[in-house]
Amino acid sequence: MNDTRAGSRQGEVTELGRSVGALLDAVWGDATAAATGDLDAVRAVAVRHGWLELAEHDAVDFLLAAVARLGRRACPFAIAAAYVAARLLPGLAASIAAGEVRPLVVVGGADDVLLEGAGDATHVLEVGETEVGLRAVRGRRAAPGLAVPAWHRLTLGPAERHPLADGAAEEAVAVLRLALAVRCLEAAARAHELAVAHAGTRRQFGRPVGAFGAVQQRVASCHVEVAAARSLVGRAGRLLADGRPDGPYVAALAARLVRDGAAGVVAGAQHTLGAVGYFEEHEVPWLFRRVHADLTLLRSPGVDDASTDLGGGVVARLVDAGRPLPAFDLGPAAEALRREVRDLLARHARPVCAAHPTGHDAEGVRGEAAAAGLFALGWPDGLGGRAATAVEQAVVHEEMKYAGGPVDRAMSATMLIGHALLRHGTPAQQGAFLPLVREGRMAFCLGYSEPEAGSDLASLRTRAVRDGDDWVVDGQKAWTTRAHTATHVWLAVRTDPDAVPRHAGITVLLVAMDSPGITVRRHVALSGEISCTVFLDAVRVPDAARVGEVHGGWAVVTDALAAERVVMGGVVATLRRHLDELVALLRRPDSPPPDDVGRDRLARLAARLQAARALVLDATQAVSDGDARIAGPVAAVLGGDLAEELGRVALDLLGPGALLSAGAEGALDAGRFEAAHRLAPMYVIGGGTNDIQRGLVARGLGLPRE
Ligand SMILES: Cc1cc2nc3c(=O)[nH]c(=O)nc-3n(C[C@H](O)[C@H](O)[C@H](O)COP(=O)(O)OP(=O)(O)OC[C@H]3O[C@@H](n4cnc5c(N)ncnc54)[C@H](O)[C@@H]3O)c2cc1C
Repeated sequence: MNDTRAGSRQGEVTELGRSVGALLDAVWGDATAAATGDLDAVRAVAVRHGWLELAEHDAVDFLLAAVARLGRRACPFAIAAAYVAARLLPGLAASIAAGEVRPLVVVGGADDVLLEGAGDATHVLEVGETEVGLRAVRGRRAAPGLAVPAWHRLTLGPAERHPLADGAAEEAVAVLRLALAVRCLEAAARAHELAVAHAGTRRQFGRPVGAFGAVQQRVASCHVEVAAARSLVGRAGRLLADGRPDGPYVAALAARLVRDGAAGVVAGAQHTLGAVGYFEEHEVPWLFRRVHADLTLLRSPGVDDASTDLGGGVVARLVDAGRPLPAFDLGPAAEALRREVRDLLARHARPVCAAHPTGHDAEGVRGEAAAAGLFALGWPDGLGGRAATAVEQAVVHEEMKYAGGPVDRAMSATMLIGHALLRHGTPAQQGAFLPLVREGRMAFCLGYSEPEAGSDLASLRTRAVRDGDDWVVDGQKAWTTRAHTATHVWLAVRTDPDAVPRHAGITVLLVAMDSPGITVRRHVALSGEISCTVFLDAVRVPDAARVGEVHGGWAVVTDALAAERVVMGGVVATLRRHLDELVALLRRPDSPPPDDVGRDRLARLAARLQAARALVLDATQAVSDGDARIAGPVAAVLGGDLAEELGRVALDLLGPGALLSAGAEGALDAGRFEAAHRLAPMYVIGGGTNDIQRGLVARGLGLPRE
């Protein structure tokens, strides 16, 4: 589907969601209606407004928009079953649309199964691999419990068998899975939104409770789960609606993500709401019931992502069938660029060692990438760039990272200082440095952190005092990566010690590392990389090296940091490479197959990785839309957490060989797992810790500062 058509379709989907919401407000109410709500009235509205005819229009995206509204109101109206039944048995479509046939759908057999929304069901469809059985409901027994309205066990008549077309069962499972996931997710998301609002208004100890760090961290963690799941669920829905072959795979991943995250979101919301959210007058107890009932249904046979039949779940596809996580199609221009970068990398591929053929000749990659304008991709044509969109830039970043980052430093220069120089640099600075950035030769380091200024960057104390046309700089920078090989340091200094707020007294200087008065002490990180303490002792820096206004450095720094968050999110491509390598090892004939626990951990990991990939794209889009306030930190949090999780899972599944270094006898994958495991904590600490990123998310949600 082209962009314009996709855009207008999305508009219609949003509109349908709104109208479903408004009608439900009238006939059902909010989630507190779960106990007493009138499902007959909901059905009457559904019939009148054509919600039960969506299958005839292949409108799974419309279906999901409606399901989302039902989830937020804890309403179990079985609209997804109606959709799937009408798809599987088109002969029933008219009676379903009229509300005369009220079907439920079960994957496998329906005898003695607890069923949701069965209070007025007339039929059950039993979906098998090649046929569907249609059974009339003869009797029902309520099974009161956590689910409200109660589940039922049904007495069913004999099955009338109908053959299924190829792929029909797989599609049915995908839609059922995704619809359940959406309902569950949106119930949890509604609880989360109520908690955010409460945190902003409920006062304790003289402050809104949302000002407390513990509440902010919890709220932000919940938000990351919701944002990740929404992003992936949305993409799965669009793929299914477009009939794309990857749709069922992404739906399985999205369902798995919700399975892992939704309970934590609703629990987090309850904890933030305290007693007020524990009583039945409030929506959250009903949303809690909805979420947990749906989570149980998501684990039912056939729907469960651990299933291996009917197209299967996550690990059946990823490991058993050897299908890598599906790529998102980013449109013709971005995909052409992806091919261009892959071809370029292939031309410079060099074996790292006999066992590992996928290293690169970094200088070869740099030279060709520079000639192709890949380090200046987003710049205007006149500056040697290609005026590429943010999404196209993300594609190049992703491919380079997936290839192991042969030109990482050049890519960071583009992301971190190229952009800031374009915006804030003088013509002379642009003339001197942009060509270096464009050629991938800008050997810079980032001089922000200090011994006493880590997360609290605004408290930095390295002083710069004006002396004629120069600044005289004194102080110390800490953990400055690659300072020992840098020609320049992008230095944040304090030019106004009395500024209030403190960040209003900061200026950025781009300083030559060979300036007299600079000395460097190296430190080896757990990853093996070298970061340095940089001592600055009466270093004279010409004012011509100032980037941006005097005392105006914060704008320059935050511009660069916003890009850094996307760079940190870009870690996802590296992690995907590790996952692919892990899967390749697990698929080797001499590898013992992972047990159920291992498969479960892999499924969780794969789902989170795919979501992180979606979030990085969202964050990239948000940067180009000028708002990376929440999307960037959300991607960074998930990326950091995942890096550590992937390291642990790989070691657990692969055993001691994964702990051996490159060159050691028996080392798996040339020591890459061992190296990646050591690098992982950096993604949680460097570039703003995950706690700080969650703080940014909390403030982006409107919670007050601590
Ligand atoms: C490998 C590596 C490379 C690096 N490279 C560079 C570089 O090139 N240039 C550079 O300038 N810096 C670099 N850094 C430094 C990096 O930016 C800092 O480590 C980071 O900003 C965190 O600061 P800190 O380590 O001092 O931790 P601190 O700020 O001291 O934090 C300690 C703990 O307190 C928590 N915390 C602090 N404040 C809050 C708060 N408000 N709310 C909640 N929790 C909070 C943190 O999350 C953390 O858990 C690098 C770091 C690493 C690990």
